[in-house]
Amino acid sequence: MKKILLPLLLLAALALVTGSAQGWGFFGHRTITQIAVYDLPASMQSFYYRNLLSLVLQSTAPDERRGTDPNEASRHFIDMDHYSEEDPFGKVPREYEKAATKFSTDTLKKYGTVPWVVLEMKDSLTEAFRMRDSTAIVHYSAELSHYVSDAFVPLHTTINYDGQLTDQKGLHALWESQLPERFISTYHLEAEPAKYLKSPLEAIWTVLGQSYGFLGETFDRALKIEKTMKPEVRYTFSHRYGKTSRRFSDAFADEYDKAVGGMVNYRMRMAPGLVSSLWLTAWQDAGKPDLNALMHPSKPTKEEREKLGIELASWKRNTIAQDQLLLAQQKLKKADVVETIKSARDMGDAPANNADSDAPASDAISPAADDDAGPAKLKVKTKRTSAGTQKIKEKLDD
Ligand SMILES: [Zn+2]
Repeated sequence: MKKILLPLLLLAALALVTGSAQGWGFFGHRTITQIAVYDLPASMQSFYYRNLLSLVLQSTAPDERRGTDPNEASRHFIDMDHYSEEDPFGKVPREYEKAATKFSTDTLKKYGTVPWVVLEMKDSLTEAFRMRDSTAIVHYSAELSHYVSDAFVPLHTTINYDGQLTDQKGLHALWESQLPERFISTYHLEAEPAKYLKSPLEAIWTVLGQSYGFLGETFDRALKIEKTMKPEVRYTFSHRYGKTSRRFSDAFADEYDKAVGGMVNYRMRMAPGLVSSLWLTAWQDAGKPDLNALMHPSKPTKEEREKLGIELASWKRNTIAQDQLLLAQQKLKKADVVETIKSARDMGDAPANNADSDAPASDAISPAADDDAGPAKLKVKTKRTSAGTQKIKEKLDD
C-alpha cells in the first residue's frame, strides 16, 4: 500500500497543481469532501481538518482506479431503470442479500452497486475507528465521501447515463463537471450539521430516489435547448492524438445552467451533509474514540485554528467559492505537495480486508473525459418526467 500510495498522492497532488479536473470526480468530489469537514462536530473536526488535504486528494481515488480495476466501475452507480421504468424503487429490495437473491449477483454487478458499496465503506470506516487506525480512518472517510457523492448525481441512476441513448452524448460531463466548475461561485454550499443516522441504508436509498426523480428534468431541459441551438454552436470539438472529441460548448453550458443550475447546486449542497453524517455515525458506532489522541501534536495548532476559523466564517457567509478557499480551486504550493508526500510516507498500511484497498496504481490517474461512465449499455430509451421530478422541483423552488 505504501509503495502505491506515494505515487498516487504525488500524481493527485500534481493534478491539483495543474488544475486538471474530471467529473463530479475531481472538482465536485473534492469540494464535497472539504465542505463535509466543516459540517462535523468539534470532537471530530480537528482530526479531519488536520487531514483535510489527504481527504480531498484521496476522495477521487475510486475514479482513478477505474482504468486498472475492472471491478471498480459498477461500484459508482445503480441503473434503476433497468429493473423497471415505472416503479424501480418498489422492485429492488434495499438489502443486498435480498436484491441478490431476486436478481442474481451478476445482474447487480452489471447494473451497479453504489448503495451497498456505501454501506461497505461505512462499515470499514467504523472498523477503522475501532482500531484507532488514523490512516485507515482517512482512507475510508475519503472513499465513503466519493461513493456517497456519486449517489447524488441523477445520471448515476440510469442506463442512459451519458444521454447516449437519446442522442445527447456528453450530458454526463456537462452536468457533473462543466457546470459546477463554471458556476461554483454562484452556488450556495451551506449544509445541515452532521447527525447520527439510524439507518444508513435507508438514507442512501432516499438519496438515490431523489436523484432518479431529477432525471426527467436532466434530459428534457437539455432537449429544449438543443432544439433552439444550432449544432455548430452547441458543441466544441477538440483534436488530440489523432482523435476528434466533442463536448457541449460553453454557450450550451450557460443555457443549461439557467435551466438546471439550481438542481446541480442543490445536489452538491446536500451531499456533504450525508457524507459527514455517515462519518459521524461510523465514529459513534465505534464508541466515539478520542480522535485528538490520534493527532501529533494532539491539539490543533494556532495556525490550524485560525485557518479553520476563516474558512468556517467564509462558508457560513456562503462565499467560500468566491473567496477561493476551496482546495479544488487552488493551485497547491510546492511546499504543500512535499508535505502531503511526507505525511503519505509516514502512513502505515491500510487494512487489507477490503477488495479495493490495494487497487490504486501510479498510472491510474488518467481518467477518461467521461470518467463516471458505466459499462456499455444495450437497451434503448430513457426520458421521463416522473411525479418524483415534480415533487423535488417544488422542493427546490422554495
Ligand atoms: Zn465515481
